[in-house]
Amino acid sequence: MKYISTRGHSARLKFEQVVFAGLAPDGGFYVPDHVPTIPFSILETFQSMRFDEIAFEILSLFIDPNEIPRDDLRKIICDTLSKFDHPFITPLRHVDADQDLWILELFHGPSLSFKDFAMQFLGNLFDYFLQRKSIVERICIVGASNGDIGSAAVEGFKNKKHIELFLLHPLGKVSHVQEKQMTSVKEENIHNIAIKGSLDDCRDIVKGLFEDSHFRYSHKLAAINTVNWARIMIEIVYYFYAFFRIQEYHSSDLEIQHFRSVRFSIPSGSFGNALACYYAKLLGLPIHSIIVATNENDIMHRFLSKGIYEKNVLIETMSPAMDIQTASNFERFLFEITNRDSAFVNQSVHRMDVDRKIVLPPPIFNGIKEVFKSAAINQKQYPIMATKAPILLDPHSAIGIAAAERVLPSNPKSTKLVCPRRPSCTWARPFIP
Ligand SMILES: *Cc1c(COP(=O)(O)O)cnc(C)c1O
Repeated sequence: MKYISTRGHSARLKFEQVVFAGLAPDGGFYVPDHVPTIPFSILETFQSMRFDEIAFEILSLFIDPNEIPRDDLRKIICDTLSKFDHPFITPLRHVDADQDLWILELFHGPSLSFKDFAMQFLGNLFDYFLQRKSIVERICIVGASNGDIGSAAVEGFKNKKHIELFLLHPLGKVSHVQEKQMTSVKEENIHNIAIKGSLDDCRDIVKGLFEDSHFRYSHKLAAINTVNWARIMIEIVYYFYAFFRIQEYHSSDLEIQHFRSVRFSIPSGSFGNALACYYAKLLGLPIHSIIVATNENDIMHRFLSKGIYEKNVLIETMSPAMDIQTASNFERFLFEITNRDSAFVNQSVHRMDVDRKIVLPPPIFNGIKEVFKSAAINQKQYPIMATKAPILLDPHSAIGIAAAERVLPSNPKSTKLVCPRRPSCTWARPFIP
């Protein structure tokens, strides 16, 4: 498996190179040079697998054994999962039998963020690659965060010998819990920098550092946002795991050659997590449909319902991890839905510069409508109160459920719904019901 750029003008790279690379030199995003299909006979065997075994199968598809021997990959996965406090890693809860609603608990990692799995894995992966180099290098990870990424990254990279982590956060705009998670660690390789400004100001600084190629190479900068393919790859595992746990639950009435269909509703920001779900489908997981749930920052909802990708002004909401103006993974998505047409991707990037929007040709738009549903949930509608789920949800998860309620047919009994749940400490502002 090698990696190519969505814009088609960069050299093919190995996995190790891609993990450290960030954006491709042509400005595109790295993606695998092909997406393999897992045959049904293999898929079936996933039903009896644990989380770590499924993770191993999925990651093996994307990492050449010459780059990471299989025993080493198993060890990296094992080290990663040892930091989780639940034996199932991401247990599934059946919360509403009427709706057949399931919640995937993604908050059992060390910082309680669903980004923990990726950050723990990245920390171990970077360390693995750096340690085996003949001349041991140190790298600098630079990132901007107003919450989840920051806390998860601190947990993932503290104590890593060859890594310095520099994290920018907007002063006073991070929840108390997460501010403490980020700034109260004593490890010397963790450097927090509070910026008087917004998250966008922090991001601009980080972007500037990466764009200064002299600085970038001399300080060996590496990225941990979803520009990094490894983030997407890792999150694919969630969907396989959830899918097969549901099959297991229904195994008494399971018919051979037939899986229960599952719909996923995914609270989305940069579109990393939802894209991982789409890759799971492309790999052959028979997902019925993918519901993309956004808050008022609804660029992906507008795109999926009208076929037009166009920025709006940013609105600050109760679900800050989803407050984005552009969905960074949109380019990868565009590449995949156009059947990997990099000429179209280049044209679209150009259109975005000129017309400030991208319009999807009708045949492609109709194609994705079969798979993707979407809804934007306005916080004035108090999604937490609106959902019928009999459990307390944080605003991000509540948006996922509210979107599913809006989109699904009134009798969704035939299909199962899984909505990744985020922990309540992602609240940035107090919520008064
Ligand atoms: C990161 C995050 C999101 C957004 O996920 P994307 O992959 O960027 O779409 C949503 N909710 C929470 C709680 C998050 O931490």
